[in-house]
Amino acid sequence: MAMNYDLERRAAVEAVIKACRLCEMVQSAHFAGGVIGKEDGSPVTVADFAAQAVVSAHLMASFPDIPLASEEDSRPLRQKDNARLKQVVLDYAQSISPHLSDSQVLEAIDRGDGEGGPKGRFWALDPIDGTKGFLRGDQYAVALALIEDGRVVLGILGCPNLPLNSNEPQSPRGALFVAAEGQGAAMRSLEEPAEKKIQVTDLADPARAVFCESFESGHSSHDESLRVAKLLGTKNPPIRMDSQSKYGILARGDAAIYLRLPTRKSYVELIWDHAAGSIIVDEAGGKVADIHGRPLDFSTGRWLNNNSGVIASNGKFHDRIVDAVKSVIGKE
Ligand code: AMP
Ligand code: MG
Repeated sequence: MAMNYDLERRAAVEAVIKACRLCEMVQSAHFAGGVIGKEDGSPVTVADFAAQAVVSAHLMASFPDIPLASEEDSRPLRQKDNARLKQVVLDYAQSISPHLSDSQVLEAIDRGDGEGGPKGRFWALDPIDGTKGFLRGDQYAVALALIEDGRVVLGILGCPNLPLNSNEPQSPRGALFVAAEGQGAAMRSLEEPAEKKIQVTDLADPARAVFCESFESGHSSHDESLRVAKLLGTKNPPIRMDSQSKYGILARGDAAIYLRLPTRKSYVELIWDHAAGSIIVDEAGGKVADIHGRPLDFSTGRWLNNNSGVIASNGKFHDRIVDAVKSVIGKE
């Protein structure tokens, strides 16, 4: 019998909506002053920390026994130099979740130290996926998934800047995607609870496919994807977009292909960069795998240690994409 994830789904959707509201507050305050560099050189903002606190605390209230594997930890905030940053994080987190004390905010952030792995349940969270897009005022996503015995069983993507209808760039912004295993995928506005089922496009001709990829050429090779597109015969310009919003637009049929071609062999993807997006595409009828055609394996801890890159599609010509990628990458 298929599991019913209604309680988890409701709590997770609420948590993501809270985090989206927080991110929008930060963005509308034009708060760019709070950016710090992490050891790996990537940026982190007050919104990353505060959104992680809000989601973590919300989930902990309903599901105290389910661990959380998430991107940030509070160490940078506890450094003397960052006292001001910490205060701003506390202010934002408490403006969304007023019942949290200062120490509860920091504890909620640090609860994200879950290791993941093959057994039992855990949440995987990217409080702001696409931080660079967030800083530019472009696309970003709050990405939350529930993983059970190594399989993603629930995924939610909150995309505050994504137009509800890609064909109408002026349409209202703020989309939320949600999928539970065996129950299909749906989209709703962040503002209103009514959900609408979504499906990948049934386009069968790769020459007419639209593909999407990272805005950042450091995250996915734009040169190679262009050569893959050429091999498939498509002349459509790529949609370059930050964050797992790419999985969202694939799931609702705006694009037929999502390519993430490694810019260096040693890069290993993080689980929270793909967990929510992958189940949303799966449940919308699409296919998600790595550049070798292997399914994404979420049982190996915080990283996708058994995978490299991503090829996601509407599933109608997936093997042809994998072959094209193979021949492009094989030539290096
Ligand atoms: P995107 O917005 O799709 O470009 O993906 C954003 C995510 O890319 C961030 O959350 C990072 O975890 C991840 N990332 C950082 N460096 C790399 C890299 N060299 N290759 C692939 N992904 C990366
Ligand atoms: Mg991310």
